[in-house]
Amino acid sequence: MRKETICVQGGYTPQNGEPRVMPIIQSTTFKYTDSESMAKLFDLDASGYFYSRLANPTNDMVAKKICELEGGEAAMLTSSGQSANYFAVFNIAEAGDHIVVSSSIYGGTFNLLTVTLKKQGIDVTIVDPDSSEEELDKAFKENTKCVFAESVANPSLIVLDFEKFSKVAHKHGVPLIVDNTFPTPINCRPFEFGVDIVTHATTKYMDGHALTIGGCIVDSGNFDFSKYPDKYPGLCKPDESYHGLVFAEKFGKSGYIMKAVACLMRDLGACQAPQNSFYINVGLETLALRMERHCYNAQKIAEFLEAHPKVSWVNYPGLPSNKYYERAKKYMPKGTCGVISFALKDGRSGAERFMSALKLAAVVTHVADARTCVLHPASHTHRQLSDEQLKAASIDPGMIRLSVGIEHVDDILDDIKQALDA
Ligand SMILES: *Cc1c(COP(=O)(O)O)cnc(C)c1O
Repeated sequence: MRKETICVQGGYTPQNGEPRVMPIIQSTTFKYTDSESMAKLFDLDASGYFYSRLANPTNDMVAKKICELEGGEAAMLTSSGQSANYFAVFNIAEAGDHIVVSSSIYGGTFNLLTVTLKKQGIDVTIVDPDSSEEELDKAFKENTKCVFAESVANPSLIVLDFEKFSKVAHKHGVPLIVDNTFPTPINCRPFEFGVDIVTHATTKYMDGHALTIGGCIVDSGNFDFSKYPDKYPGLCKPDESYHGLVFAEKFGKSGYIMKAVACLMRDLGACQAPQNSFYINVGLETLALRMERHCYNAQKIAEFLEAHPKVSWVNYPGLPSNKYYERAKKYMPKGTCGVISFALKDGRSGAERFMSALKLAAVVTHVADARTCVLHPASHTHRQLSDEQLKAASIDPGMIRLSVGIEHVDDILDDIKQALDA
């Protein structure tokens, strides 16, 4: 099926007399008539549900829909985008290991990978996403376990060179993990360009209505961990906590996700709530429609801003003047996302006055939902940094992040115009 159809019909196919709408299975536990069948589930010898921390039917149906949208092999939901990225990396890297991470990623993920994972004994090398192949090569070590990047980075909007990154990762025998939150599988399916594992903050466009925090991990099944048994012992060597089961052997292409569920979800418990999965699914049903409108509106607004005399610069990959225009056209011909960043000639004080004058666009710490919103990184998310430190982090003190919603584009434009006049 095509992506638009999967959005509506994927993940759940009711049988005769069953509910037409994906049901919410609001139950922590599942009933069995004999002790033996429950024991088999605990040993991962049979598939089935027994406790919703590990698996829940509603969560699984939503994960299956996202898996189908990405063209993957297996998927799981998590309680947030943060836990999705944490599990995706920690599933194959542990104390004493090393990972390679793009410098241009979401602030929360940057903190997770460079501060918190470091405290857990995982060493990190940061690379510029625009590094040459030779420069990237130098980042790898004996104990490197994966490469992590974002398809369209939040908030820099740098479009990843998927083929370069996957080529280098594979040359060094490690998978490439990509956070695909901003373009969503509607605009980009990273597996088609060599990416091995995709993560999402479903919190953003997938939910699309700012209702619920959530995450998802999808494995393409393409990276053959069993080729590197010494490098990935957690997947390729007997697991003590499951009577010596070998995940890559027993579950093949689903081994990576099975391990993340059976070990990380079991022990760390960052599971999604079935009620929240239901909301995510309602959002997913209109994802294809919404992404089209987000991109249409953002394109018009980026063009308007670029031509406005009070605006000093606009960053949107859909503008021919953008450094990533050609790359975005190649990997995301239907558009990237609805997020734009720009600055006014009046700098920081101009940004503050502009934002206070907006009426339709709200000032919120969120991006990628149906309602247009703005954020001023220098006064909000990066408030602790001095102007000098902002410069070092490539953040213009006057930079405004605008997340274009799906209202009528003329109403958004009118609001921006009156705020610029004010
Ligand atoms: C928001 C976001 C996250 C974190 O998601 P939460 O659901 O807020 O934990 C991760 N990656 C990207 C690209 C994001 O935009």
